[in-house]
Amino acid sequence: MSGKIQNVVIAGGGTAGWMAAAALAKLIGKSINVTLVESDAIGTVGVGEATIPPIKTFHKLLGINEQEVMRATHATFKLGIKFEDWKQVNSDYIHSFGVTGKECWAGEFHHFWLDSLNRGIDSKFGDYCFELQAAKAGKFALDQQAPLNFAYHLDATLYAEYLKGFSQKLGVKRIEGKISEVTKDSETGNIASLTLASGEQVSGDLFIDCTGFAGLLIEQALHTGYDDWSHWLPCDSAIAVQTKSIAPAVPYTRSIAHPSGWQWQIPLQNRVGNGLVYCSKYMSDDEALDTLLTNISGETITEPRVIKFKTGRRRKGWNKNCVALGLSSGFIEPLESTSIHLIMSGIIRLLRLFPFNGLEQSLIDEYNSKLDSELNAVRDFIILHYKVTNRDDSKFWQHCASAEIPESLQHKIQLFKETGRVFLDDGDVFRVDSWTQVMFGQGLHPKQYHQIANIMNDKELNNFLSGLKNAISTAVERLPEHSEFLDKYCKSNS
Ligand code: FAD
Repeated sequence: MSGKIQNVVIAGGGTAGWMAAAALAKLIGKSINVTLVESDAIGTVGVGEATIPPIKTFHKLLGINEQEVMRATHATFKLGIKFEDWKQVNSDYIHSFGVTGKECWAGEFHHFWLDSLNRGIDSKFGDYCFELQAAKAGKFALDQQAPLNFAYHLDATLYAEYLKGFSQKLGVKRIEGKISEVTKDSETGNIASLTLASGEQVSGDLFIDCTGFAGLLIEQALHTGYDDWSHWLPCDSAIAVQTKSIAPAVPYTRSIAHPSGWQWQIPLQNRVGNGLVYCSKYMSDDEALDTLLTNISGETITEPRVIKFKTGRRRKGWNKNCVALGLSSGFIEPLESTSIHLIMSGIIRLLRLFPFNGLEQSLIDEYNSKLDSELNAVRDFIILHYKVTNRDDSKFWQHCASAEIPESLQHKIQLFKETGRVFLDDGDVFRVDSWTQVMFGQGLHPKQYHQIANIMNDKELNNFLSGLKNAISTAVERLPEHSEFLDKYCKSNS
């Protein structure tokens, strides 16, 4: 066991670095000192603007005021993701954050819906989800009587800026400078200090690597290793550009499939974040730029920027006295906006296991084992979108169709296809509702389902379903437009 952990040094000040600084300072800042080193010259990755609902819990835990952070980051509400052309060209579906229908002991609502289709009752699965219908209608409100489950779209740079101010008020020490060397203890192999280009040395007991893809501490110094997942997730490039808004912000992210990848559109109050994720084996950077610029609306306000990545994960999230958070810990894919969530859950896990009295291998092992389950579940969910589709119109989609998938996902798909059942794995971030929405949306229709709906005769089932549907339409009708609500609730100044 090492000595007491009193000085925590965070390397890197992107979203990961400042989220970690804010949480450590707020929640255990009375027991430790927190220092963050960042380099203005290197800058941040500058993307990562769509989130998932648990971010609200993170803000609540830190006492961050929703209206304030939304105003500061030009944020909008997000009720889900609209997947366009994923199942096939000219098709779309929404993966919403809502619950579809009502659950019962036998399982989820989709068994009732599947039975109703067999009985000739025509409806769409999404007809029974409040969030999905509100997203489609472009509506939103915060209402205790009819609460919507939501997340945010936010400006990544402004979010880090906001958290920087928040952290510094809580006593986090910020050092600007480029880390030029990482020194290890010759006996333990633990990181002892960081040396900056200025010659300044920053020593600590525990280091958090938030240096982005560089992985300066976790990889370059500790050689932790990387599991390459590109045989499952072949996209390795992205090109990002921001445009002026030309229409009111919709309360969902758009994800549009293309012949060699997919495009995102993330609406903020003042602008839209756009990007194309693609596989360099099937599309050059020039072709990607051309495709992106042809498929966006509104004047561009930034220079398009190419970002290269390798999908996969660092072999250990916590190695010796270093915890990697954010892109230094790996990158699965931005398709379901899980990276910021993984930063948050890594921070919470670290706080719960925090080694106040010294490093214990059991704490490190527990952290890494929980991280394994979480990453595997996210990985499987994302691969699902590429694997289950009717698209075979390009070499990229043909490659996805023939690529092997992890056994855990193979089992989930098979179970659903044959029986209509979905069970979550340990660490699953997404609920059964998410899995079913995406499986149906991508075109998977099960051969069977649970016979629970037999408890109702045709008339009762019809009444049950139309009751749910009508209640949702009435609730959606009462909601204001999303942009109208934003203006009243958290209009930003720009
Ligand atoms: P960075 O933002 O790269 O920050 C690294 C920090 O380390 C910077 O402050 C830099 O200055 C510092 N640094 C590096 N080297 C040194 C050095 N030598 N000395 C000193 N400082 C140094 N996530 C989502 O949740 N939702 C999304 O919609 C989403 N979309 C994405 C789209 C793409 C194309 C990509 C690539 C990622 C996306 N992500 C998304 C992931 C998200 O961007 C990141 O998880 C998040 O921004 C965290 O990045 P980071 O802080 O780890 O790294």
